[in-house]
Amino acid sequence: MAVPPTLSIVVPVHDEEAVLAQFHRRLAAVLDTLDGDAEIVYVNDGSADGSWRALVELHDADPRVSVIDLSRRFGKEAAMSAGLDCARGDAVIVIDADLQDPPECVPAMVHEWRAGHDVVVMSRRSRAGDGWLKRATAAVFYRVIGRMSDIDIPENVGDFRLLSRRAVMAMRAFPERSRFMKGLFAWIGFPTRTLEYDRAGRLAGTTKWNYWRLWNFALEGITSFSAVPLKLASYIGLATALAAFFYGVYVVIKTLLIGDPVRGYPTLVTLILFLGGLQLMALGIIGEYLARMFVEVKQRPLYLVKERLAPRDADGARRDRSVEEERREVVAAPRG
Ligand code: UDP
Ligand code: MG
Repeated sequence: MAVPPTLSIVVPVHDEEAVLAQFHRRLAAVLDTLDGDAEIVYVNDGSADGSWRALVELHDADPRVSVIDLSRRFGKEAAMSAGLDCARGDAVIVIDADLQDPPECVPAMVHEWRAGHDVVVMSRRSRAGDGWLKRATAAVFYRVIGRMSDIDIPENVGDFRLLSRRAVMAMRAFPERSRFMKGLFAWIGFPTRTLEYDRAGRLAGTTKWNYWRLWNFALEGITSFSAVPLKLASYIGLATALAAFFYGVYVVIKTLLIGDPVRGYPTLVTLILFLGGLQLMALGIIGEYLARMFVEVKQRPLYLVKERLAPRDADGARRDRSVEEERREVVAAPRG
């Protein structure tokens, strides 16, 4: 039996027609310089443009390429999970298709992995491609989630990273559906090395994240890794109740001392609205968690595969068999 490839590169792709060819050229050039063979797993996350055709062409041209076509857009987190599930390398690198993560960093990452690190995370020295608003909101998000959760999610670190085989197996063992990958990556631990790189601007096309998507992504992260908002509700409730008690005492004493002229309508309205708002907010927080529990309880697969193009390298027969096995695994997605 032939050995699986040393290195797998997982690339989530959503509407990246404009950059795919150039991305692949740069990545392939880098992989050629490495010793040990490699495979490239493109995960087509429901692209509506010509990405699929471009991927088929890449698959025809390069025997190292395999393509997983998801049945619709499942989001980057699910696409990465699909890639990790199918990657067979001893080490797996997750990289964006838009060339914001330079493929030229790969040899340095592999070097650190060979030096014994299970995880090599790439930290952005600069974020040339991102506007000030995105950088500012990202900074706030990392501060908030850092305070709220026990695990340390490093700032300036995206999904661009290398995982050893056992780190990949750890990722695959997570049963949960809400996959906030940055958090899961941090959660698994293992000897980790951080390298710095300059994050370029997007080569072509547009970002797939608008602010609404980012906001929901942030909510997902916080609710997946922290129960603090739930506790917050009880503390705010307690504080309000205490304040209300003292205010009540004050009102009673005032009434005893100087009588009770019918006044205080503004106070009343303010209090009712304020408490109503607090209650709704607390309910909303509970709702956020409940909704995620609902999703978990349904135990739906993380993603569905429409089609798979296996790599066409030398030991095709063996690969095909394992692809069939993997396919069954992928479609049934037995988790938990
Ligand atoms: N992506 C994806 N599914 C999505 C959104 C994005 O597979 O729903 C891919 C996208 O094709 C790219 C990577 O994830 O390869 C990063 O996306 P993008 O560059 O839009 O994010 P940004 O760099 O702006 O954070
Ligand atoms: Mg990008």
